[in-house]
This record gives sequence, C-alpha cells and structure tokens, in this order.
Amino acid sequence: MTHLNDEIQKLNNPNCAEEEIFYQAVREVLHSVAPLHLSDRRYSLHKIAKRMIAPDRVIKFKVAWMDDRNEIQVNTGYRIQFNNALGPYKGGLRFHPSVNEGILKFLGFEQIFKNALTGLPLGGAKGGSDFDPKGKSDFEIMRFCNSFMQELHKYIGSRIDIPAGDIGVGAREIGYLFGQYKKITSSYDGVMTGKPYFFGGSPLRPEATGYGVVYFTQAMLKTENKEGLKGKICTVSGAGNVAIHTIEKLRQIGAIVVSCSDSGGTIYDADGIDLKLLKKLKLIRCESLEKYLNDRPNASYTPLDRYPDGAHAVWNIPCYAAFPCATENELNGTDAATLIANGCSCVSEGANMPSMPEAIALFLEHKICFAPAKAANAGGVTVSGFEMSQNASMERWSAEEVDAKLQNAMQNICHMVSTTAKEYGSEGNYVAGANIAGFKRVADAMIAEGI
Ligand code: NDP
Repeated sequence: MTHLNDEIQKLNNPNCAEEEIFYQAVREVLHSVAPLHLSDRRYSLHKIAKRMIAPDRVIKFKVAWMDDRNEIQVNTGYRIQFNNALGPYKGGLRFHPSVNEGILKFLGFEQIFKNALTGLPLGGAKGGSDFDPKGKSDFEIMRFCNSFMQELHKYIGSRIDIPAGDIGVGAREIGYLFGQYKKITSSYDGVMTGKPYFFGGSPLRPEATGYGVVYFTQAMLKTENKEGLKGKICTVSGAGNVAIHTIEKLRQIGAIVVSCSDSGGTIYDADGIDLKLLKKLKLIRCESLEKYLNDRPNASYTPLDRYPDGAHAVWNIPCYAAFPCATENELNGTDAATLIANGCSCVSEGANMPSMPEAIALFLEHKICFAPAKAANAGGVTVSGFEMSQNASMERWSAEEVDAKLQNAMQNICHMVSTTAKEYGSEGNYVAGANIAGFKRVADAMIAEGI
C-alpha cells in the first residue's frame, strides 16, 4: 500500500496544467484499486501502479502539409503507446485543435483498462493531432492525413499498434490514412480499424460505440432491478458518431430522445429528435445544429451550452436516463445536482470521461445507476477487435452476427464490472468495478511478463 499511497500523493502536485486531465483519470483509477492492493501485496511488490501510469513511449512529430492556397501549414502529431501487456497497442486518433500530450495521455491511460474489460488481447494507446478538420476541403484532409502517416507508419503495424478513429477521425480520414500506409509500406495490413466496409471494415463499426452504450445500459438497469428504457425520456449530448448511434439505438428500443448538442449549442425537441434530419445536418452537410430549427420549428436551440452558473443546457432537461456523448468534462457538479433534482435515475457515459469527479461523487452518493465510460463505451473497440479478426482470417461477418456478438460482449462486461464491485465491497459502484477489473487483468499480465 505504501507504494500506491506514494503514487497518489505525487498526483496531488501536478506540475504541468496540460497534464491535469491525465492526473484526473489516474487519481480515479488509483483510488479505486486500493482494495485490490490490500488483498494482494504482489501489486505493490511489483510497483504496478508506478509502472502502469508511465506510458511505454510518447511519440511526437511534426506534420507539415500544403493547404488549398498552396500555403504550408504545420501541426503536431502524437502517438502515445501506453501499455502492451495484453496485446498490441490499440486506441483511436483524435484530430481537434484542443489535442495536446496531456489529453492523449488521459485517453491512452483510460484505453488500457477499457481494452482489458473487453477480454480481447489488446493493449492501450491513443494518438492524434491539433489539426482542425472543420472547414477543410477533402483534398486538404487527404494531404494532412498523408503527411501524418508519413511519420506514424514507422511506429504501427498489425502486431504492433493498430490505430482507429475518435473525434475528428471518421471513415474518410481512416481511408486516407490507410491508403497512405499501404503506399509507403506496400503492405495490405489490417493496420487500422474503422475502415469503410468495402475495403476491409467490419459491419457495424460506425454504430458500435453508440449501440454498445445502450446495450450496456440495458444490462446495468436489469442487474440493478431498475425499469428499462422503453418509453422513457432520455437526453443525449453531442451530435457526432457516438451521439448519433446512441440516439439511433435508443429509438430502436422505444426510448424517447429529446436532446442533442454540438460545440455551438443544444437542441431540445420534446417530440423526439428527428434522427434523419440530424444525420443530414451533421454527417452529410457538417452544419451547425441551429439549422435543425428550419425543419423542426417546435424544437428549441440554446446557442451557448453553458449558462453563467456553469450549468450545461442538455443537463437541465428532465429525463430518466442521461447519455453524455460529446467530450471530456462536459458534465459538472452543478449539472449532476440538476439531473438528480429532476429525477434522473441513470447516467451512461458514451464520451470518454465526460463527468467531472464531483459529478461522479454525487451520482454514487445518490445511488444513481452510473455507467463509467471505460465500460459503457467499450463497444467501439470491441468491434474494432472483431474487424482485426475478420482481416486476419479473411472472413466477413454479417451485421446481424456482429450485432449479436456486440450485445453479448457488453452484457459480459456489465456482469464482470458488477460482480467485481461486489467482490471488493462496493456493490452497485460500477466505477470501482470497472477500474478494479480492468486494472487486475493488466496487472496480472505485467507481473507474469516480468519487468
Ligand atoms: P465526433 O467527432 O464524431 O463528434 C464529437 C461531437 O462532440 C460533435 O458533436 C462535436 O461538436 C462535439 N464536441 C467535440 N468537442 C467538443 C467540445 N470541446 N465542446 C462541446 N462539444 C464538443 O466524435 P465521436 O462521436 O467519435 O466521439 C465523441 C466522444 O466519444 C469522445 O469523447 C470520444 O473520445 C469518445 N469515443 C468515441 C469512440 C468512437 O468509436 N468514435 C469510441 C469510444 C469513445 P461539433 O459537431 O460542433 O464539432
């Protein structure tokens, strides 16, 4: 335990503001795994916490590319290869102006445990760039991806590190990155997942994270003897890949989804979000959500997501279940208190770490069914694992087959998380269950593999 306490103590004095979000993620995991350290001293003896919070390597590189005006632009690219105790490094790439080393270290660290929870042989990694795809032409995106892969290809491979998508990286970007990898290496490797279906992608990979969130939530509500989602009002934040497919699956099972949001504002549509319209606006035209009102005048749009008291418009809407699916730290203590006061019974995280620590503390205190991201949104990496299997065996599975396997996988993760929480004295606490179960699987592999 001294070893674990020493590591927690160090986190109270982060010396770099950029790294604070990484420390936030580490603090949560290390606090959760204290009971594990008490029950088995091997974890302290082998200094697992100290070794786990240091990435295996941080790769940082320059990405120079030519825009449509023939001007040279320069961005920074990263790949954080965090831990490969369980299998090759695996984790998405994020293209967003907010990307820095601290954000990617937090995402890479979380990815280790998420991947462990899937039961698949996958290590944890994350990467990306401060490049902003918004407003760029297809050719600019292609030239950026080509330059990015020019450097990244040196560090990845189907048995080494297999990147995928994340914010700002969808099928188009994966296609360009994969094409450039193939050109440079002359190798048609399953080196990336999230590829379009017609050249090696898995059916249902775009849908997997959002669908998985709903499958996990259904399993959690059943385990906790709570009412299901059918006929219930649900709120969702975000309007990207994860949000759209969470909304799609919620609608399929008969829930009523009344909100979505983007970086500009929030839509509230009491009649239920018009999914076809949402897809047209965000997936095809890449427009602001404000345009939603042109077709749905009875809906409302709150242009600023945050009110002066720091509350978020989405979380002011009364609901049975809330699904934060946009980005990290988007749901604070004020939002959590509002959700609870409005009778919310369940919060499931589609985005990575969207709830701030004070929000999670409130959810746990009020016995809200709370599904943490590393368990609830593991459906994306699960189907990425299926894509790797299909690529390696040259098989193609049907959408129905993938969907059934995904549903089964999410139920298994839910079962593992809830039984682990119970085993370590925190029944009903899915944060503790996910952290302990994920940590244990990686730690046991690290001990077995030696230093
Ligand atoms: P997308 O890029 O498809 O969508 C992101 C959405 O969030 C957009 O609606 C975007 O608004 C909004 N958003 C992004 N940054 C901010 C911000 N700083 N403030 C407010 N809104 C913001 O990304 P994904 O849907 O793929 O990812 C969403 C979350 O899910 C992320 O946390 C990601 O790490 C996580 N995740 C994704 C997985 C996947 O398979 N894609 C797998 C597991 C987790 P706008 O349209 O205005 O840009």
